[in-house]
Amino acid sequence: MLRVEGIRTAYHKIEALMGVSLEVNAGEIVCLIGSNGAGKSTTLMSISGVHPCHQGRIEFESEAIESMSPYDIVRRGIIQVPEGRRIFPTFTVQENIMIGAFKSKDNKKARKNLEHMYTLFPILKNRAKQIAGTLSGGEQQMLAIARGLMAEPKLLLLDEPSLGLAPLLVKSIFEMIKKINEEEKTSILLVEQNANLALKSAHRAYVMEHGVIVLEGSGDELLKHPKVKQAYLGITEDEP
Ligand code: ATP
Repeated sequence: MLRVEGIRTAYHKIEALMGVSLEVNAGEIVCLIGSNGAGKSTTLMSISGVHPCHQGRIEFESEAIESMSPYDIVRRGIIQVPEGRRIFPTFTVQENIMIGAFKSKDNKKARKNLEHMYTLFPILKNRAKQIAGTLSGGEQQMLAIARGLMAEPKLLLLDEPSLGLAPLLVKSIFEMIKKINEEEKTSILLVEQNANLALKSAHRAYVMEHGVIVLEGSGDELLKHPKVKQAYLGITEDEP
């Protein structure tokens, strides 16, 4: 579905990505883990066209998208939920969700999708009229995901959905991600600091360091990999 081949992306001539290649197949949850500054968010921003690569190729459903505008990429079904949630704090919860329906000119369908979001995220229904800036961190994250889903993405790019959330909430966000993948048939490319939960939830995963992919495998394989255990799960080899 998505094929990223050897992309290089720079900020002010300093390369953050130095030849990144990865794939997401239809129906998969793929996660990208790595240390701070490795280039995970930049990879997502290059795919969504927000910060385009200057070299390499990005194909989505066999079409080259690396030179397209973010708008054209969204129209093809790739939706990014950025790090830090970026909801509109002075708008109500419902207004925020409806902003996600900007692609649709069909009001009836947008209302139907809104009701569907309220079924997926009942907490948002209870808070429909509340000003979004007053929601808790976890609720804001759910709102950002619901807004993204309103555009009926084929591929959802999630940047650190667990950032700043309490452990219990992190678990429920990951349960929600799996549910969206299974029930909505949405493919997901996920960037996460919480390597343990991300690898447990993902079908496949990539490890990034200093702008390149250094490891790839199934979530289970990487959970057992000595380098991942030591660097990202905090487990040393001689521990049981
Ligand atoms: P984190 O887990 O800390 O969010 P990351 O793996 O997502 O890190 P990126 O945010 O993609 O890493 O950053 C990759 C590199 O690009 C870093 O060296 C970072 O300092 C640099 N960078 C990111 N955004 C910008 C920017 N707007 N201007 C200049 N440099 C940037």
